[in-house]
Order: sequence, then C-alpha cells, then structure tokens
Amino acid sequence: MTPLSEAALQPVLQALKPSPTMPVLFVGHGSPMNAIGDNAWRRKWQALGADLLKRAAPPQLILCISAHWLTRGGWQITGMAQPKTIHDFGGFPQELFDQQYPAPGAPAVAASLAQELKSPATGQPLGIDPSEWGFDHGTWSVLKPMFPQARIPVLQLSMDYSRPPAEHYALGQQLGKLRSRGVLIVGSGNIVHNLRATQREAAANAAYDWAIAFDSTIQAQIAKGQLDALPNFQTQGETARLAHPTYEHYLPLLYAAGAVRSTEMPQFFNTGFQSASISMRSVLWG
Ligand code: ZN
Repeated sequence: MTPLSEAALQPVLQALKPSPTMPVLFVGHGSPMNAIGDNAWRRKWQALGADLLKRAAPPQLILCISAHWLTRGGWQITGMAQPKTIHDFGGFPQELFDQQYPAPGAPAVAASLAQELKSPATGQPLGIDPSEWGFDHGTWSVLKPMFPQARIPVLQLSMDYSRPPAEHYALGQQLGKLRSRGVLIVGSGNIVHNLRATQREAAANAAYDWAIAFDSTIQAQIAKGQLDALPNFQTQGETARLAHPTYEHYLPLLYAAGAVRSTEMPQFFNTGFQSASISMRSVLWG
C-alpha cells in the first residue's frame, strides 16, 4: 500500500473564510536552480515564508500567477485536487528534475473563484483546467523554499497572453478582494528578464545599463504608488524591449500590483540582478 503523503491527509479546503487582510507578493524567481542552490535569494524566500506563517492569520490558500503558464483565448484556474509538479526546463541537473511540491489543490474553491472572477476581455467567468497544468517552476521554485511543508493549498491562475497588459492589471484588481478571505496572492516573474543577454559569469549584481534603467523606473513607480502606470511599461521604448524581448515575466507584477491599494507601502527585497539581465527585485505589500 502506498503511504499517503502528509499533504494528502489534510482535509480538502472547501471554501474561503473571512480573514485579516493578507499581504501580496511579487517574487522575482530567476534561474530554476534558485529552487535548490543555497544563495541569498533563496535564503530570503525561506525567511519570508517562515515570517508569514508566524503571523496571526496564516494564508488559507495561495493563488500564484506565474510567468510560465500562458494561455490564449481565456484565463484558466487549476482545478485538480493534487496538482502535479511540472519540470518545464531543460539542461539542468537531475536533482532539479527530482524536485516535487506536493501542496494540495482546492477544486471547490477553484470552481467558485472561476465564477466570481470575470475575464477582463469578455466579462465571462474564467475557465477551469481539470488536469493539464499543475505547478510550473515559476510557482514551485519559490513556494517550496517559502513553505517547505506544502500544507497550504495552491491554485495557479494562467495569463491570457493574447490580451494587452492593461487587462492583466484589471484582473489583478479583481483579486484584491480575496485578500480578506485568506488568499495570499503571489506573482512570480522578473522585473527585467532577457535570457538572450544573460552572462552567467557576471559578477553578483552587475547588470546592463538598460536593465538598471528599467528596474529603477519600475521601482520608482511602485514606491510612489503609481501602480496604474505599470501596465504602460512599453512607453519606455527600446529600454522596455531590451528588458523584456517577450514580456511574460513582467505580467505577474501587474496581478500583484492590481491587488493592492496605491497607498499601501511596498517593501522591496532581493534587489539585485542575476546573470546581468535578470532583475531579482521582489515586492511585499502588507
Ligand atoms: Zn521564469
């Protein structure tokens, strides 16, 4: 008989209960190797997770928006009871492929959230993904160090990459109300992300001028509460194109920023760069 995992022994979360307002996180995830390699980024994730669990009301559910789940023609929420761990990368050591994150899903909560949240494109309910997705590395590479016990149920929300940045921010605004129902919203991407320009041998925190420029502009907008400006990042022209040749790693920031009020004070952490072209800057609100 196969022993049940600790996560499988937890009662399945059926509904969200009222709670004190949960914080909102945007995490720069960088290389998948940050999931297992001991470095300053990961140590901060570990400390932050422990800190969040010590608060009076720990999260009932984590809703993660990862750069690595893109859909077209609609948004999807994971609806499976035991989401699988997806190793969506290549060319890394076996140890990384052996990683599992056995946090439970929450099918009933996913179903009700899909009805409650509305597509910013159509006004219709969101879709449910019953079996296809799970946890991609944008989700598990940060949640595993933060919450290694994997007891808190996790849902992923996809990003409809056929839709403009403003709609991603608008959906983030809808997520804000979930903060008073025990939901920790986690956007996982990177504020600067250009893989073609990475320099693996770059000195720690060295970065291109355009990377520093884009990161600084976004940092200033967040610090000043100018969150409505964040969807308009492409007005930075060539700097934005260099920072995000494709912009799926930027979009998760719009969900997190959409879910907070402009008067909430952000705390930045993991400020710095990985491989010269990836900003690891992360933000905690609340
Ligand atoms: Zn990534």
